[in-house]
Amino acid sequence: MKITDQLTRLFGILDYEVPDTPVGSVVRTDTEGFWDVTEYQHGGSYQCRCGRSEPAFFSSSQFRRCRPLNPELGCHICQDALKGATTKAERLAAWLDSRRATISPDRHLVLPESCSHLYIKESQESNQRATVRTRHFVYQHFYRKPVPAGFCVTRTCRNELCLNPHHLCLTKNHHAKITPYYRALIVTLSLKGMSTSGIQSFLHEAHSLELSQRSIQRTAREARRSKNCVI
Ligand SMILES: [Zn+2]
Ligand SMILES: [Zn+2]
Repeated sequence: MKITDQLTRLFGILDYEVPDTPVGSVVRTDTEGFWDVTEYQHGGSYQCRCGRSEPAFFSSSQFRRCRPLNPELGCHICQDALKGATTKAERLAAWLDSRRATISPDRHLVLPESCSHLYIKESQESNQRATVRTRHFVYQHFYRKPVPAGFCVTRTCRNELCLNPHHLCLTKNHHAKITPYYRALIVTLSLKGMSTSGIQSFLHEAHSLELSQRSIQRTAREARRSKNCVI
């Protein structure tokens, strides 16, 4: 798309006057929606805060008249990504991508109403589950890496609604299934006569694995039972 077409779409400008650049020293900076606005001695510019598009420069007379049509939606890249998103998760991804450069660790990040944590809630799903899913999704999308098996994404801050990727971290998923390795280990320790509480503290200290005494007992019992099977 030509720059003039973009300016028509974003600012409603039909008669773009190409300004001379540079346009003097800065006299004022401001923000408008998702745009950083800079006024120079001669003219001004609008730069989308996503940092993915070139700034739009205007002559003084045009700068005084022009305003973004939808300031919150940002530049054509931000708008196209949002428009091209068909699922709830894609819309959340587009929103995160546009904010990526602006997300600061100093503040909580709460998604706007139109893109709230319920955004990727599936039907029949509870709000709590949707929050967990959204946090998981935000982590994977922002850091561009999967959450390893046996881990879950938790908050490091106290704001329940916060989805700031800088306030998220990976923790061991205590509800993870007992892997065949740990199953064998529990059986071996149990056969050697170690108590359930002994096995529990050993797994906790040596393997950072937290299991209830009940699951340890059940694992040992099931293993013994299958060993006694003759078929
Ligand atoms: Zn943008
Ligand atoms: Zn936070």
